[in-house]
Amino acid sequence: MKKTFLFFWVIALVLIVLFVAAPPMLDDEQNVVVAHQPYSVSEQAQALHSSLIIGDWHADSLLWMRDLTQQYDYGHLDFPRMQQGNIALQMFTTVTKSPSGQNYDRNSSDASDNITLLGLAQRWPLATWTSLAERALFQADKLHELAARDADNLMLITSRSELAEFLQRRQTNGVLIGGLLGTEGSHALDGDLDNIQRLFNRGFRMMSLQHFFDNKLGGSLHGTSGEGLTQFGRDAVAKMLELGIMLDVSHSSEKVVVDTLALSDKPLLVSHTGFQGHCQSARNISDGLMQQIAAAGGLIAVGYWDGAICGNSPATVAAAIVYGIGLVGEDHVALGSDFDGSVTTSFDGSELAVITQELLNANLSEEQIRKVMGGNMLKYLQTYLP
Ligand SMILES: [Zn+2]
Repeated sequence: MKKTFLFFWVIALVLIVLFVAAPPMLDDEQNVVVAHQPYSVSEQAQALHSSLIIGDWHADSLLWMRDLTQQYDYGHLDFPRMQQGNIALQMFTTVTKSPSGQNYDRNSSDASDNITLLGLAQRWPLATWTSLAERALFQADKLHELAARDADNLMLITSRSELAEFLQRRQTNGVLIGGLLGTEGSHALDGDLDNIQRLFNRGFRMMSLQHFFDNKLGGSLHGTSGEGLTQFGRDAVAKMLELGIMLDVSHSSEKVVVDTLALSDKPLLVSHTGFQGHCQSARNISDGLMQQIAAAGGLIAVGYWDGAICGNSPATVAAAIVYGIGLVGEDHVALGSDFDGSVTTSFDGSELAVITQELLNANLSEEQIRKVMGGNMLKYLQTYLP
């Protein structure tokens, strides 16, 4: 009897650690903000920052267990912090598989998957255990639920007309956030083209082709094959274009980028990246390819973490942006934070005005800052959303 009792308490303790303590601990450990003194932002920079429509192409905040309507003292983004940082448009990307031992050089497609364990610890529904599409849909449902529960602070945007409505509403509600849905890697299709329509129906408007490993569509920049688009990949891209899904080639092999450029009649996105010429990193594709993407009308969104920009200070983010403007022009550079994407940054969403400050310090014009901070993203969405 005594033994049974002890057994019960051990199991209970394990469950409490796994389901209650582990998710916030993991979140806190993965999505770090370096400790720092408050940043000083001039009146001029703050005034400019407050007048901007700010857009960010990439944040993985839906992966974690935080209630985004509440402000937390860990992780990078939630609605209150986004509003303090004046973020208007946010692409919420959904991570569905992440290889153990993840690195920028070489990951096997067979490596065991970290998201399975994370989903288990966060009590994701049973269907997500075996289906990557279900993982994407589950995270999308969180955004739908937030938009329904907190309509004064979040509006889901899936079309040009909803974007216009959002801009209209923001005139009287200056803290309204427009949320969009994207995938991180098209292994989320579970190898089934019909899932493109299924995800589209649930609001997905951007799909990235690969993540850290080669998938059925083609090679990853961090995979083992270095291959271009497969026939399945070509079919998937064609279907995405037909539906009006924006194509993100972050994490794709250079061959996949070349193939997709040739195949697509719409400009590509690199939703979170740095530039090789500014930061030589296996995370970044070549400057020449970035120029081709931009020449076709695409956008390159700059991240805030070391692996992409060789440093994570606000001044380094500004330096990467300035380099990008020099390389591809001010109409083709945007923001792609990778907030809550298991990266270490030196500021969270609430402190974004420091970037405006650093861009002013770097002698960019107000017009250039307006474009990079969100103007280019807004224009892209106004043109290419269905
Ligand atoms: Zn990523």
